[in-house]
Amino acid sequence: MLNRNTEMRKAIGSYWEASVPPQKQDRQLIGNAVFDVAVIGAGYAGLSAALKLAQSGTSVCVLEAEYVGYGASGRNGGFCCLGGTKLNERKLIRKFGLEEARKFVAYQVAGVNLVEQRLDSWQLDADRHSNGEIFLAHRPRDVSSLREDAAFLKDNFGIKARLLSKSDLDVEGYGGPEFYGGLHVPYGFALNPMKYIRALADQVRHAGGKIFAKSLVTGVNKDGERWRLETENGFVRAKKIVLAGNGYAHEDAPRWLHGRTLPVMSSVQVTRPLSDAELVAQNWTAETMAADTRILLHYFRLLPDRRFLFGTRGGIFENPAALAAMRKRARSDFENMFPAWAQVEAEFTWHGNVCMARNLTPFVGEVPGMEGVFAAMGWHGSGIAMASISGEKVAGLITGKLRQQDLPVALSRPFRKFPMAAFRKLYLQGAYWWYGWQDM
Ligand SMILES: Cc1cc2nc3c(=O)[nH]c(=O)nc-3n(C[C@H](O)[C@H](O)[C@H](O)COP(=O)(O)OP(=O)(O)OC[C@H]3O[C@@H](n4cnc5c(N)ncnc54)[C@H](O)[C@@H]3O)c2cc1C
Repeated sequence: MLNRNTEMRKAIGSYWEASVPPQKQDRQLIGNAVFDVAVIGAGYAGLSAALKLAQSGTSVCVLEAEYVGYGASGRNGGFCCLGGTKLNERKLIRKFGLEEARKFVAYQVAGVNLVEQRLDSWQLDADRHSNGEIFLAHRPRDVSSLREDAAFLKDNFGIKARLLSKSDLDVEGYGGPEFYGGLHVPYGFALNPMKYIRALADQVRHAGGKIFAKSLVTGVNKDGERWRLETENGFVRAKKIVLAGNGYAHEDAPRWLHGRTLPVMSSVQVTRPLSDAELVAQNWTAETMAADTRILLHYFRLLPDRRFLFGTRGGIFENPAALAAMRKRARSDFENMFPAWAQVEAEFTWHGNVCMARNLTPFVGEVPGMEGVFAAMGWHGSGIAMASISGEKVAGLITGKLRQQDLPVALSRPFRKFPMAAFRKLYLQGAYWWYGWQDM
């Protein structure tokens, strides 16, 4: 049953919004309040931190500019999978050494397991499907790269990925003119991200954490022993802070964030439900979540209600002309990759921001020079598992149950400023041209 009469003030237009019932909004912060910890951002990271803190008896509030799930946590493709960095495993080894790379991959696996355990223990029906994830070679020459990847993952990380030939793909229902072979990685599953974020928020409230909606933090300043977080209609004084704004972070809250992250748009479309005949015509019947081997990848999956979700990179700017061009390009990619569905309309299209960093790795730790201010951000487009586990870890750092050295080194490097940060979006344009050329 779709909820088209959405209750949300700044509706995103996503399929996920329509798939959940209306919900009463948390109230705005009006006046002043004191908490042990204030979290900025009600996505997976901020709410996971708040949940762990509230469960340990810490008084905690979450300040959210809009409402729970307004950010990427309510907009994503629902691939709960490995990832969180733009460095592939080979580069991770080169940069951090084999042991640290293994630690980081184990952390990603633990993130996926954490989300799964949460859904199980909350008995949440989050429309789960897909046993692992498949990567599809979009050019014949990428088949041999997948073969090398399979051997590399097994030898270095003990990951037993399965290679699929073109005829395996055809037999198993991964049909498409651009798919020449596949590599199935046996980690991850797909879910309805809005159901997950809403349930997570319920757990926070139940554990005693306070969530304030419509409470954009515009400044963070020292106020005696505490930090003071300014919002439009009040302020919070807290001993410790978690920065969890990710691709929606306000760069003045705190100033340290200025020029250190790069919000990057990703876009999603969801079709109407497909008939049996349409699925057969395209020969796409597999329920496994999939992505192609492009650097500027596409991600797609058949939803349990037989709609097809198709995601790809977004544009650079958010004005109406740029968004229309983005939708046109995404649609054209969809029709090229799934030609039997060229006439199947997308009922929902939306976009959102992921967060990149200059280091190409996330940062989970204390902000240099700001005692008591911690960050958990920068998942590089793969944050369902990573933001969930990292929110818990940052709570551990705050309560002293964890030390920074307990985390993988790849997560522990504070974000560096982008050079000439004002031009970050233009770099992105250059990168898109370059990657697009490499993907040909
Ligand atoms: C279109 C799209 C598809 C994606 N697909 C996938 C996928 O399939 N799998 C996957 O793993 N990941 C995916 N991602 C990435 C994933 O959704 C994110 O990495 C993850 O949700 C980030 O969670 P978060 O809690 O760090 O941030 P968010 O969920 O973005 O939440 C940050 C929140 O902070 C709030 N905020 C920011 N600044 C302030 C402030 N100053 N004051 C108050 N509030 C503030 C924002 O309003 C926002 O609600 C996708 C992202 C997008 C946009």
